[in-house]
Amino acid sequence: MSLNATAPRTLDATPQTSAASDWENWSGSVKARPRHIWHPESEAALRQGIAGSTGAVRVCGAGHSFTSLCATDETLISLVNMPGDLLEVRQLGGETLARLQAGASLNRVSRALLSQGLAFKNLGDIDVQSLAGAMMTATHGTGQSLPCVSAELRSLRLITASGEVIVADGATDPDLLERGARVPGGAGGCDAG
Ligand SMILES: Cc1cc2nc3c(=O)[nH]c(=O)nc-3n(C[C@H](O)[C@H](O)[C@H](O)COP(=O)(O)OP(=O)(O)OC[C@H]3O[C@@H](n4cnc5c(N)ncnc54)[C@H](O)[C@@H]3O)c2cc1C
Repeated sequence: MSLNATAPRTLDATPQTSAASDWENWSGSVKARPRHIWHPESEAALRQGIAGSTGAVRVCGAGHSFTSLCATDETLISLVNMPGDLLEVRQLGGETLARLQAGASLNRVSRALLSQGLAFKNLGDIDVQSLAGAMMTATHGTGQSLPCVSAELRSLRLITASGEVIVADGATDPDLLERGARVPGGAGGCDAG
């Protein structure tokens, strides 16, 4: 449930990466030693860094997946330092749409939504997962009338391997929205918001 672009808030000329360090998922059942773990602070830096990276790039959220979706020995990106939780609220086609920061936790974006009198239709009892991680893995569905979190998605900004931004939405490219955003396991590009 994200909307189209807002301008990046800062422009970092050089991506900051940390040296190799260990990464593990929440339970410790998946461990990895990425060559770089990178926390970009703006979409411009994210795009630049992805375009300039060599080798494989994976994006992680809160690391709550039980499988090795985020494990890599090359570059691992976390969007946790990207600014803003709630970037925009607007009405469209009878729906209230909120544009949210993809790397923020469900807890953070839920609090931001609450400040506007809004909420997700359906969440689990754990809310530390990132919004993008929940979107990419079909987190928490309860049935046909209360489907998983990604069912609320209307649009998102995908950063491709070349650093290009693709806005996937149901009006212009419903197929891309399905394939690139709903449950691709992080393989459809980096979800920036
Ligand atoms: C204690 C616990 C409770 C849970 N409860 C539930 C539950 O109630 N219902 C349920 O359905 N699931 C539940 N899960 C599963 C969990 O919600 C999912 O595994 C979810 O993906 C975790 O989100 P995350 O932010 O940790 O993502 P991660 O595990 O970090 O990443 C998951 C996937 O998303 C991709 N990804 C992350 N960020 C981006 C991005 N910005 N752009 C592109 N790809 C990205 C990663 O590459 C990876 O493929 C639970 C897990 C745990 C450990």
